[in-house]
Amino acid sequence: MIITDNLTTNKNLLFYNGSIITMETGTPSVEAVYVENGIIQATGDFKEISQAIHPNTKKIDLDGQTLLPGFIDSHTHPVLSTFMHGVVDLSGFTHRTKGELWKHFEESVSKYKPGDWILCSGFDQVLIPELEPPDINYLDSIAPNNPVLISSHSLHSFWVNSMAFKETGVNRETLNPSASSYYEKDENGNLTGYIVEQEAFNPFKKAVIQSLGNEILKEKSVEVLEDYAKNGYSTIISMGITTSDKNVIRLYKHLSSGKPSFIDQLLTVFRILPKRKPMVRNFVFVRYDSPHLLPISVDNGDDFFKILGIKFWYDGSPYTGSMYLESPYLNSDLTNNKLHLPYNHSGESLISQKELESSIIKYQNAGWQIAIHSQGDIAIKEILESFNKVTNHKEIADYRHRLEHCLLLQEESIQLMANLNIHPSFHINHLYYYGEALKEKIIGKERTHQLLPIKKADDHSLIYSLHADQPMFPSEPLNLLHIAVNRRTKEGKVIGAQNAISVKKGLKALTINAAWQIKMEDKIGSIKKGKYADFVILNQNPFTIPTSEIRNIKVLQTIVNGKTTYIEHSLE
Ligand SMILES: [Zn+2]
Repeated sequence: MIITDNLTTNKNLLFYNGSIITMETGTPSVEAVYVENGIIQATGDFKEISQAIHPNTKKIDLDGQTLLPGFIDSHTHPVLSTFMHGVVDLSGFTHRTKGELWKHFEESVSKYKPGDWILCSGFDQVLIPELEPPDINYLDSIAPNNPVLISSHSLHSFWVNSMAFKETGVNRETLNPSASSYYEKDENGNLTGYIVEQEAFNPFKKAVIQSLGNEILKEKSVEVLEDYAKNGYSTIISMGITTSDKNVIRLYKHLSSGKPSFIDQLLTVFRILPKRKPMVRNFVFVRYDSPHLLPISVDNGDDFFKILGIKFWYDGSPYTGSMYLESPYLNSDLTNNKLHLPYNHSGESLISQKELESSIIKYQNAGWQIAIHSQGDIAIKEILESFNKVTNHKEIADYRHRLEHCLLLQEESIQLMANLNIHPSFHINHLYYYGEALKEKIIGKERTHQLLPIKKADDHSLIYSLHADQPMFPSEPLNLLHIAVNRRTKEGKVIGAQNAISVKKGLKALTINAAWQIKMEDKIGSIKKGKYADFVILNQNPFTIPTSEIRNIKVLQTIVNGKTTYIEHSLE
């Protein structure tokens, strides 16, 4: 057991007597780490270091536990997670049959006051067999007095009732934003309640945020950020933060930044802003449709909160048919009858290459990092083609642009990414939760065998990270490591064994690689003299535990800047 109390008040700390894994190449493990005022002052031999420390140092006996650099969540959505906190869960993780799911829905509806939005998440026709999309008449009959919004698990498609249409003003005359983002209509031109992709969804998002107000963010944002610490994260990247409101940015800046402004301190006293605590670092990419949230310059913020760049969506999700593929989806009962994809459907891009190219030029010239949601093989090819076209190859500056998710990434694209200095963040949970469905019903054996080619990316020296895309999946770093190393589906079948990576490479993806992707590799991501004291303490060593046990490792404590942001209850 770790003999320590909450560390927040201790300025000098000495960690010893455990497995201390630095993620530094020269000295992969050390006997002791010494910290002063949140900065690592020494790593190495216990005897040597303990002779040179300040007399008031708090000594922390790790008692055989494992100390690592704090994990970095390279792609997550804290605002969306906060809004989803407490919504009706219709996911395939908590319901096994459609009967169970609709019963839960009907019971939940009765708990709402008339007029309140009823938000439901996780609707998943892939994981729940026989599940049919909800009929608008059914939703109207169950909730005649409430706007209802049901989101698919992938957050790329939605179902609403008539009241929700009324609240947003969307009606049968409303034009579809594009062929790939639309309001479905029946043969008589009436809305069916089915909504595909972000552009069409926007009026609903606005209405929901307006009705919940920023109050819920103020109340719950701290809880959600504390959950990241609980899972061992010392840093998160808010990838396309779900807001167009400057006040929301201000709230998150207030919670994470190194020093609060005088005015924000005053607002805390008046309870307009929540009280600050030691918090996870937060690096933000704003959405393409909210560029007004970008500060004047990339030199904004500090090492605790900073806006880094802008995020675009080039395609969507494999579970709505909006992932953009080179060869068509399988024709199957799921794709054609449940997801209503036409025969030999391949998806398409959400924006044109031309549009993308002008955006790349605009934001790259201003020094912003660019991140692009890209799942399908042809989506990735077209994005890279666009970067290639607008890049001056004589001098590829250190932009560190990134591609998000990268489910289907062909070798020639990996090579081009290496040439263009563009790097991936892999959405590895697809393999575990949806591997079987992808293989049998969505993209077939051959492409499933090739998906998430992490080892291949490693062979081409790409600097890759891993993410869970919370709220799509809970943000659990050891789960990501487990899947990247074992590559097994939830049914226990191996997918693409040739792309399994070692524990060491998986840990790099969760620490130093992720730090590199946000240009913080000289300050966080490994345990090294001069870096911030951002640590996680685990009850087991991922290097020595059998790989089939990795996901069972427990986080005991998380430390940011030498301060405890999470401590397991029994250790307090
Ligand atoms: Zn995301």
